[in-house]
Amino acid sequence: RHREWLSPDFVDADGNITLSVHALVIEAPGRRILVDTCVGDQVVPGFEMLTPNPRFLDDLSAAGFPRESIDTVLCTHLHFDHVGWNTMPAGGTRVPTFPNARYLFARVEWEHWQGETHPAFAPTLDACVKPLVEAGLADLVETDHRLCDEVWLEPTPGHTPGHVAVRIASGGEQALITGDMTHHPVQWAELDWRMPADTDSIQAAATRRRVLAEHANRPTLVIGTHYAPPCAGHLVRDASGPRFRAKR
Ligand SMILES: [Zn+2]
Repeated sequence: RHREWLSPDFVDADGNITLSVHALVIEAPGRRILVDTCVGDQVVPGFEMLTPNPRFLDDLSAAGFPRESIDTVLCTHLHFDHVGWNTMPAGGTRVPTFPNARYLFARVEWEHWQGETHPAFAPTLDACVKPLVEAGLADLVETDHRLCDEVWLEPTPGHTPGHVAVRIASGGEQALITGDMTHHPVQWAELDWRMPADTDSIQAAATRRRVLAEHANRPTLVIGTHYAPPCAGHLVRDASGPRFRAKR
């Protein structure tokens, strides 16, 4: 029933939803922050359609952001499609992909995933997260951590326990990177529609309700980590209910 406002960007002609996997770069004074590192160079069991993505570093560099230029890697949560390129293969082992970066993970998120054995998550945690913590390259931060005047984290639990959204304030304007508090714009209209991967779907829905109440009919630019292009827009609520209006 939402096809009218979802089409053509977020639902195709056959009624299938469209999704995307984005890494986003924030440039703040003296800082270059990479938010999420997409799927990596490894196949994730059960997600062969999506993995691997060998082009990622070339695409990032072509966009003007060679890996050496990133000073902070921030992962909204620790699922494989958000940490994949945190590390890369080199000389028979794995090394940090971003040699000049600190890696930021929420402490509660890191603690949640200790002892994970699920085949879709455990190998990526072992390859792309754990080595960075053990090497002292990761900062385990609170879920409301402030990176700088312009960029801070906002706790948005539910999809995972330590999930964070990213807030940006610049030039009098505000933006919010969703991470996986939503995967698709339709979830702003159907707040209870869940993702199978949610650790707590009730909490995830409550998070969406809170964020919607705070940002609906406001100028906050909402940037969807998994929204198909154009991935940014605004939350609106009127007589026909809440929805997402893409910015063109
Ligand atoms: Zn995701």
